Amino acid sequence: MDAFEYNANPASVVFGSGTIAKLPEVLSKLKLSRPLLLSTPHQKQQAEDVKQLLQGKVAGLFSEATMHTPVDVTERALEFAKSTGADSVVSIGGGSTIGLGKAISIRTGLHHVAIPTTYAGSEVTPILGETADGLKQTRSDPAILPGTVIYDINLTLTLPVALTATSGVNAIAHAVEALYAQNSNPIINMFAEKGVKALASALPQLIKNPTSQSARSSALYGAWLCGVCLGNVGMSLHHKLCHTLGGSFNLPHAETHTIVLPHALAYNAPKVPGAMNALAEALPESNGDAVAGLNVLLTKLKVERGLKGLGMKESDIDKAADIAVSKPYWNPRDVERAAIRELIRRAWAGEEAR
Ligand code: NAD
Repeated sequence: MDAFEYNANPASVVFGSGTIAKLPEVLSKLKLSRPLLLSTPHQKQQAEDVKQLLQGKVAGLFSEATMHTPVDVTERALEFAKSTGADSVVSIGGGSTIGLGKAISIRTGLHHVAIPTTYAGSEVTPILGETADGLKQTRSDPAILPGTVIYDINLTLTLPVALTATSGVNAIAHAVEALYAQNSNPIINMFAEKGVKALASALPQLIKNPTSQSARSSALYGAWLCGVCLGNVGMSLHHKLCHTLGGSFNLPHAETHTIVLPHALAYNAPKVPGAMNALAEALPESNGDAVAGLNVLLTKLKVERGLKGLGMKESDIDKAADIAVSKPYWNPRDVERAAIRELIRRAWAGEEAR
């Protein structure tokens, strides 16, 4: 076996069905009694339910979490946290709400309990992307990692079917890029393979039956494993492209990941035979071809396949290609302008990846 380095990210993780009921005990063990609850406006009721579970013993509820963690929202939440004497933050939601929890926690040192309700994986990463003046900047710091994660399958039962599919593929993307990361290692490869397997089997079931407990459980477990991949090793072409497309053209996060993934994988395929074999093993009906396996999965999930369907203009393809190649980063295959432009064009048009 080749030499490798593996750094475990410390966090306490509770997983199961109805596990939200353990929140009072989790806080009490940490000697915390005035949590600030965070949610989006859409998930305010879930946060209200948590407030009730804590018998109203909270510093307050801030329900204005927004996609891409705008700094002005964080500043308002910080003021509120200070004025209410919060001693911790509890975020209930997807990557947007957990991002706000991270932004508050890194600025104040407050303990962060993350309660994820999507499959984005932010809860187990030391990464934070924040937006100011229309520019999204990402940083990584061990102090950003939430200290406690409570995975409760029941909270994912309300995740709309379309977001279930795209958020699940967003998670798979973390595992895909981990398998060919420059600093990949056998431990993370195990997480990646198991994560893809769990999601690829659960997601098609959830399209038919969104409240299946066993499929929701398998999907959330897979999302956790894939999130660990994102938090541990470097991402490359796929994540850079999605960051560019999301940030520059305001395209939705999970949907963009879903469209770009087969194209990024096909681009890197000639340089990563080991990762392609591992993925083909993990994806059902791949017949030994990981890109084909991914295409089968996306067809079953009935997801949008073209960036034009998300509102991206054809005239933006060149701009996207320019931005994507403007800052050098590590990728298993050289990032060449003409080939990247063609990749983006195919993804824009919704053509099959090859
Ligand atoms: P999201 O958090 O923006 O949620 C999308 C919508 O779905 C919101 O309205 C939300 O309230 C709603 N929702 C979430 N869970 C629900 C549920 N169970 N039931 C009903 N509605 C629910 O979406 P996301 O894809 O999880 O997160 C995207 C954001 O997270 C982006 O800003 C992205 O950059 C960031 N992100 C960060 C990391 C990281 O490691 N830093 C990782 C992944 C994503």
